[in-house]
Amino acid sequence: MTARVVLATRNAHKVVEVRRILDEARVDVDLVSLDAFPDVPDVAETGLTFEENALLKARAIAAATDLPAIADDSGLAVNVLGGMPGIFSARWAGRHGDDGGNLDLLLAQLADVDDSNRAAAFVCAAALVSPTGLEEVVRGELRGTIIREPRGSNGFGYDPVFVPDGEDRTTAQMSASEKDAISHRGVAFRALADRVGAAASGKSSAE
Ligand code: IMP
Repeated sequence: MTARVVLATRNAHKVVEVRRILDEARVDVDLVSLDAFPDVPDVAETGLTFEENALLKARAIAAATDLPAIADDSGLAVNVLGGMPGIFSARWAGRHGDDGGNLDLLLAQLADVDDSNRAAAFVCAAALVSPTGLEEVVRGELRGTIIREPRGSNGFGYDPVFVPDGEDRTTAQMSASEKDAISHRGVAFRALADRVGAAASGKSSAE
């Protein structure tokens, strides 16, 4: 029987994306979201770094479900803003998940910033915690530039204004698989993939 692993999110989009990345890494687990555990309360993201928040969520969900849990925390770090919006990316304009408001506020803040100073990176910390006490956290980054006008309709969040280094298109103009191949989440979850398979089958990944 395929072992169950819980992804600490109720975001259906995230489940599809992480399942696709683990499938491509040939990790054979039954990935379920928090929708399978309606009584488990949401975990407050009180950490001060992406890594802390990912670990907080994975620890809480592994304890609540008694299953290996994986969680991520991600965001956009803009150099000229000292790394912000960072861990506040999802609520930069004040309301959690207001993608349009977040993007408009960021463009307004950078309106007078030269093209040469608009470097940024998408960052993702991915954590794995098993009920037996295993803890792993890895980080993935995608470096790029913030453009002035949104382009493209794929993806979400800040994708329409983010052009990866070496690309002409924004990540909102890429297909899902093109973005997975280079994205912060792709890098982080591919790095965690072997550990996830091993934790699900109760083995150490070194075996
Ligand atoms: P999380 O769901 O707490 O990890 O919040 C992530 C937030 O960071 C999202 O709401 C977006 O604003 C931003 N973000 C993270 N990854 C991406 C991405 O791949 N594209 C666009 N925005 C992203």
